[in-house]
Amino acid sequence: MSAKRVVALAGGVGGAKLVYGLAQVLPAGQLTIIGNVADDFTLYGLHISPDLDTVMYTLAGIANPETGWGIAGDSWQMLEMLVRYGEEGWFRLGDRDVATHVLRTHWLAQGVPLTEVTARLTRALGVPHRLLPVTDDPLATMVDTVEYGILPFQEYFVRRRWQPVARRVWFEGAETARMTAEVAQALAEADLVVICPSNPVLSIAPILAVGGVRQALQGRAGRCVAVSPFIGGQAVKGPAAKLMPELGLDISVNGLWNFYAGLVDGLVIDVADTPQSVGEHKAILMTYTLMKTDDDKVRLAKEILDWMETL
Ligand code: GDP
Repeated sequence: MSAKRVVALAGGVGGAKLVYGLAQVLPAGQLTIIGNVADDFTLYGLHISPDLDTVMYTLAGIANPETGWGIAGDSWQMLEMLVRYGEEGWFRLGDRDVATHVLRTHWLAQGVPLTEVTARLTRALGVPHRLLPVTDDPLATMVDTVEYGILPFQEYFVRRRWQPVARRVWFEGAETARMTAEVAQALAEADLVVICPSNPVLSIAPILAVGGVRQALQGRAGRCVAVSPFIGGQAVKGPAAKLMPELGLDISVNGLWNFYAGLVDGLVIDVADTPQSVGEHKAILMTYTLMKTDDDKVRLAKEILDWMETL
């Protein structure tokens, strides 16, 4: 396994857990993470990249273990001051976390592309693996809801705590956004691609929607597998099991196969889920996919990489 180049497609908290495991198993230079940027947004003029930061903080060993996002031991004085000024403060910005957004915004304003900004930040935090935004172009998840009409992603996800009923999800900018040259090269050179147990609609679909990504994945000879974010038909966290049925998407094992049809050679599912409706010819690894401890993450990453060798 040691000579393989692995690419992981990841969203935020769920994706970062498996990415952490992969990062412990693979030597530096053999793991590239392609991250979602469709939940990026601007708040008080700051460019915030929640998914990239979650992966970055996780790999740097500074992520908040309770939430999965944000920085461990961060304080909230800036947020408290904003609230004192009468702001709602619905998006939780920790004091140290803000430094990331200030610097990112500063460099972007100087014309530095997000890919280079992310490389500078990860390097400074001592992350030995490459974290690539899927695109340097604008991309924004939008959710049309029954209760509030069209909401920008963070208004739906954080402000409204994903409670509104979704009618449609789309990615503004996807028609023109292109994958970066770095992403194209990483995909072309990858021996193995792992789609992390991220939200298929909100974290992985926007990566796949970027120009060139789907074709690059389909044009590869190496293996690609997806890890299910569902355990016993439920999401471990977040809106996947609520949102997908609202959009008419099936969250069974068969439904996940269909969602990733034409892209994956295999699925990793939890022992609590039944693959009976999926044909015999499909490759399925049934294992324990709940990642509570760091050992769980490393064990699952190893199991997946070993299994991919046998496909
Ligand atoms: P977000 O962008 O922060 O919402 O994070 P992701 O999209 O990367 O991950 C959200 C998904 O991760 C949810 O659908 C969860 O069900 C899934 N998830 C979280 N923790 C685990 C876990 O330990 N095991 C598995 N299999 N899925 C998980």
